Amino acid sequence: MSTPHKMIPRPDELDAEFYKATVAAQTLCMQHCQECGTWTHPARYYCPNCSSDKMAFDKVTGRATIHSYTVSHYTVDPAWKPFVPYVTIVAELEEGPRVVASARGITPEQVAIGSPIKIVIEVKSPEFAIFWAEPAQGVA
Ligand SMILES: [Zn+2]
Repeated sequence: MSTPHKMIPRPDELDAEFYKATVAAQTLCMQHCQECGTWTHPARYYCPNCSSDKMAFDKVTGRATIHSYTVSHYTVDPAWKPFVPYVTIVAELEEGPRVVASARGITPEQVAIGSPIKIVIEVKSPEFAIFWAEPAQGVA
């Protein structure tokens, strides 16, 4: 009998640069326009505000609010079966971009749009990290 394991994606192109920057910094990074200061995600070749190509990946605070969420009561992935029902959150970072994260320490009964959360990373490979949304207590 095989042991279930969660798949680790292998991002490419700008997604790979985004994940490598986040893994190297050991904290969530977002693409940041060096001309006008606009933060953006997913990564792009040109700033959506000023069209500059001077884009870099800089650290964000991780402070966010719950923009939206879903509760999964069923999964076809054996690795996730012990965790159902689980919450997946669309987090809006205080810098502006939104990122999808799995909830940790937030139950389906507790989750609410607008609640303060923090986004923390878990490095899964030199090229990939997963994002966890946790209750905001302890946000630096
Ligand atoms: Zn810009």
